[in-house]
Amino acid sequence: MSETDLTDPFGRRIEYVRVSVTDRCDLRCSYCMPRGFRDFEEPEDWLTFDELERVMAAFARLGTRRIRLTGGEPLVRRGLPVLARQLSALPGVEDISLSTNATRLARSATELRDAGIRRINVSLDSLRPEVFKQVTGGKLEKVLDGLMAAKAAGFHPIKINMVVMAGVNEDEVEDMVRFCLEHGFTLRFIETMPMGDTGREAIGHFVDLQKVKARLAKRFELLPGVMPGGGPARYVKVAGSDLHIGFITPISQHFCATCNRVRLSVDGTIYTCLGNEHHLELRPRLRAGCSDADIEDAIREAIRLKPERHEFNEKPEKIVRFMSMTGG
Ligand code: SF4
Repeated sequence: MSETDLTDPFGRRIEYVRVSVTDRCDLRCSYCMPRGFRDFEEPEDWLTFDELERVMAAFARLGTRRIRLTGGEPLVRRGLPVLARQLSALPGVEDISLSTNATRLARSATELRDAGIRRINVSLDSLRPEVFKQVTGGKLEKVLDGLMAAKAAGFHPIKINMVVMAGVNEDEVEDMVRFCLEHGFTLRFIETMPMGDTGREAIGHFVDLQKVKARLAKRFELLPGVMPGGGPARYVKVAGSDLHIGFITPISQHFCATCNRVRLSVDGTIYTCLGNEHHLELRPRLRAGCSDADIEDAIREAIRLKPERHEFNEKPEKIVRFMSMTGG
């Protein structure tokens, strides 16, 4: 591993960090966080914005180019534009993006854009208010208001993430394609993953996205497609339009061989893989007054722990934590 880049034991270059700024959320998506769940991290255990800036500056010195702000729901954390401004000013960081459920986006879209965020991913599992409520416990109109505010604020691309579930929203796939065609959004379909008990329950509604792709190919002419961003989606493009459709298939066709990322949880723990527990706690070292060089050493130490791939199919019982704890 050279001084200025992070390469894991399998030769993969790690240049993307998903930063969870809170484990809290104002929704309770059925495949993520149980209804009534309250056992969150205490605020005093959250990394402060200044601690986050120190850690991400170290990652940037080690070659990290992309940062995605996630949660829980990141807009639940007060002052997020302040953090976005701090991180977008870091030397070496080329791209700051946000993953949100958009329920609070209408009031902060412009401020987030001014703070340096350029790309947004919005979770939207249904266009029917009653199904949306069934899946998330929330109000669809708030999310649609947030999406329109993001569009008006000039975010591009705006990517829609839809977790496809049999017997829940699988019949809305074509409607979601038309919605994204109409609004110029990029669409990504995501397979359910056995993250925590909720994730394992959701596996009961698993839909193989290869079948969804075949179904769409009967309705739309699909061409090979590519999209900017460091994520795992495999894209096609709808002929005669600008619509890109991505397929995120951790179960039916994993993408671990090209993995380029790690996650930082709100309490300062580096999780090296979504589908494994290999991790390193940074907060105790930060609060013990470690140097910037110590942080870099700790990050390198964490990357040496990174496993080759997930075992979602072989050991679905393995991961106890919910998706919201490391921000997807
Ligand atoms: S499951 Fe782990 S190794 Fe695979 S793509 Fe996700 S983070 Fe990377």
